[in-house]
Amino acid sequence: MEDLSQIAPHHLVNFVPVASQLHWDEYFMLQAMLASYKSKDPNTKVGCVFVDENNHQITMGYNGAVAGVDESQIPWGNDRSVPLEYQKYGYVIHSEANAISHARGSLKGSRGYITLFPCNECAKLIANQRVTEIIYLSDKYRNTPENKISKKIFDLSGVRYRALTLDPQLIDRVHTYLLGLLKDL
Ligand SMILES: [Zn+2]
Repeated sequence: MEDLSQIAPHHLVNFVPVASQLHWDEYFMLQAMLASYKSKDPNTKVGCVFVDENNHQITMGYNGAVAGVDESQIPWGNDRSVPLEYQKYGYVIHSEANAISHARGSLKGSRGYITLFPCNECAKLIANQRVTEIIYLSDKYRNTPENKISKKIFDLSGVRYRALTLDPQLIDRVHTYLLGLLKDL
């Protein structure tokens, strides 16, 4: 076999410059968005993923029914005028609570990517797990009492939080890429 080291330095043989198409923030928020798509909630689908300092996923989740419960037996409507027994709010577990309850390892020091800013109940769980940072897509309930409590919990416990804006063109590129995978079958 030809000694290629005589032709070019070793690191330049078969060399092709490469770059990732996604930043970590984009990569994980897309995962959270895909997790949200799995939710059966007809009104509010939320997904999340928690990752460690090495950018490895620890756990993911979306809002759904209690494990073992037939989801078709739950009232999924969001009409708050009926008794709680007939509202989804009495039965559904939020994505963050689902992810945390299914995690097999510690969430201490992790970052959480969530499609919607956490409610105050999930903020309690997140802070209690000593999560370091929350990255969110939407904060559509900002200025509601629950939302203010979430931020107060995070501020008091040292959980940082920041919004992430995704470029719609990124979604277009991912869409084109995924369709391309199907063509290769
Ligand atoms: Zn929640």
